[in-house]
Amino acid sequence: MPTLTTLTDNAPRLPCRTDPDRWHSPHANDRRAAVEGCQPCPVRAACARYALDHPEVTGVWGGTTTAQRRSWRDGRPWRFDEQGRLRLVCGSEEAYRSHFGYREQPCVACVAAHEAHIGAGRRARLAEAHRAAGGGSAAGYWLHRRLGEVACAACVAAVQARRPARQARRGARPPAVAAA
Ligand code: SF4
Ligand SMILES: [Zn+2]
Ligand SMILES: [Zn+2]
Repeated sequence: MPTLTTLTDNAPRLPCRTDPDRWHSPHANDRRAAVEGCQPCPVRAACARYALDHPEVTGVWGGTTTAQRRSWRDGRPWRFDEQGRLRLVCGSEEAYRSHFGYREQPCVACVAAHEAHIGAGRRARLAEAHRAAGGGSAAGYWLHRRLGEVACAACVAAVQARRPARQARRGARPPAVAAA
């Protein structure tokens, strides 16, 4: 089984060497202290990556606990944030949503990814609208608009076809009662 020594031979005065039991303690308080103790360690990122790549290691490695690493074994790209927390790499819809979980504004890369995600969703719904009878729909017309493009003839025709019905409904409404 690999040990920390294999990774840290050239890094002297590592916190986990001064109090190794805490890094492998079953107690939550000890684990928290170990996680904090890892924060200033010069090999923290390499240590965490090593532990993520080796499911057999247990205890606190690189500021991560065994349970945390288990939840990251699906191959998602990770990073440490400014507070030393294990987070998703920015630039995806999932990372965009995770910003809100940390009560912070999404970063530029995540906003761009989110907008691309929204655009792709609209594009898929528009393709669906174009498969409808007549080759377009009123919903498709508004999707074209939201995508910042000129609507196709079929979607324009569909929205125009709805106008008379809408106007008829408006005309059928009882007139508003004037205030006394
Ligand atoms: S990051 Fe933590 S576990 Fe890894 S070598 Fe440094 S102090 Fe030890
Ligand atoms: Zn981000
Ligand atoms: Zn269209």
